[in-house]
Amino acid sequence: MTTALRALGLVDVKRVRAELEQLFELGKEPGREGAWRLAFSAADRRGRDFVLDLMRQAKMAPRVDEAGNLIGTRRGSGSGQGALIIGSHIDTVPGGGMFDGALGVLGGIEVVRALAEVGYESLHPVEVIAFSNEEKARFQSVLGGSTAMVRGVEPDELAGLRDSEGALLTDVMRAMGLDPDAVGGARRPSGFCRAYLELHVEQGGRLAREGTAIGVVTAIVGITRAKVTLRGRANHAGTTMMDERHDALWGAADLVGEVRRAALAEDGELVATVGELKVHPGAANVVPGRVDLVIELRSADEGRTARVLDALVARARDAAAGYGLVLEVETRRAGRAVPLDGGVQDAIESAARELSLPSRRLVSWAGHDASSFARVAPSGIIFVPSAGGISHAPDEETAWPHVEAGIGVLAATLCRLDGTDAAAPVRV
Ligand SMILES: [Zn+2]
Repeated sequence: MTTALRALGLVDVKRVRAELEQLFELGKEPGREGAWRLAFSAADRRGRDFVLDLMRQAKMAPRVDEAGNLIGTRRGSGSGQGALIIGSHIDTVPGGGMFDGALGVLGGIEVVRALAEVGYESLHPVEVIAFSNEEKARFQSVLGGSTAMVRGVEPDELAGLRDSEGALLTDVMRAMGLDPDAVGGARRPSGFCRAYLELHVEQGGRLAREGTAIGVVTAIVGITRAKVTLRGRANHAGTTMMDERHDALWGAADLVGEVRRAALAEDGELVATVGELKVHPGAANVVPGRVDLVIELRSADEGRTARVLDALVARARDAAAGYGLVLEVETRRAGRAVPLDGGVQDAIESAARELSLPSRRLVSWAGHDASSFARVAPSGIIFVPSAGGISHAPDEETAWPHVEAGIGVLAATLCRLDGTDAAAPVRV
C-alpha cells in the first residue's frame, strides 16, 4: 500500500468537520447570517488565531509574514529544493459560507497531520498557507497576500486603499501588528515553491450535477470588462413622439439581449454578464438620455473572449446607429486566463484513480490564489462538489464524504509531487 493510501485512512473527517464548524462559528457576527471574516476584521482575526493554534498543535511552527499570510511548515528530509505548498484563504465575503477557502486551509493542515501519523517523511518541506485578503470583499484591490508573496507588493500600492466605511488598509494592518511599509518583505526568493496545490469547493454546480467527486482544474478563466456608454437625448416622456426619440435605453436593451445570445452560442466555454447598468437621468417621465453599463466576459480562452467582444461591439454600433445614439466602449482586462500545469493535473487525476474516486477536468470560473502561483511554480487546483452550486452564501455546502475525498486526493497528490511515493512519481 502506498503512503498516500495509508494517509488517506488517517484523514479524520470528523476532526476536520468539527474544525470547519468552529471556524464558521468564530466568523459569525450578532444578528447576521453566515461568516463575516472580511479581511483583517475582528472575525477574521478570531479565525486567524484559530488557524495559528491548529498549526502549532500540528507542530508546524507557524509564522505570519509581512502581508499577513499565515505560514505553517513541516520540515522535509532536506534533499528536496523548494516547498510543496498547500494554500487557500480564510477570509470570506459578507455572509459567506463554511467551505470557501477554509476547506483548503484546514484540509491542508489535516494532510500534514495524517502524513505525520503514518510517519511519512517528505523530501521537500510542506507548507500550509492561509493567504490574507483573497476575497477582495473589503479592500477591493487586486493586491492579496498571494500576490505579495509571489509578485511582491510595494507600500505605495497599499496607500489610500479604504473599505466601504472609510477605514484605511494601512491603519487596519497596523492595528494587527503588521507594518505596511514592510509589505515588500513578504515577497519570497525565486525557487521557494516546488509545486502549489489548492483544495477548493467548485462553487459552480457541474460536479454535484454529475455526481463526480473530484474536479481537476485545467485553467482559471480570464475576466474582461467592457464599459459601454450610450448617449441619446433626454426629453419629455409625454410630448416626445416615439419616432422622435433617441432613447439610450433602447440601444442598451438590444445590447443586453445580444450579450446573452452571444454567450449562449459559445456552448459553455464563455459566460457573459451585464451586472451594472445605470439609466440617466433615471426618472419615470424622462426619455433616457444616457446609459452606462458594464459587460463582463469570462473564458479560459482569451482568443474566444476577444472574438465575442469584437462581435458585441459591432452589434452595439449597429444598435446605436439605428436609434441615433453615440457609443463609447472602454475595454479592460480584469484578469488574464491562467492555464494550470499539465503534470500537476495528471498527478491529481492519478491520485483520484488510486483512491477509486471518479474525476473530471474542468475550468475554474472564479479566481483563486493558484493564479499567483502559476506564474512561478507548477500549480494545480482540486475541486470538490458544491451542493446545488451555491457559494458565497451561508448555505454553501459540501457533503462530508466529498470533503474526505478531497483531502485524501490532496494528500495523495502531494506524495506524488514529492516524488517519494512508490506509485509513479510525477515529474512537474
Ligand atoms: Zn475561495
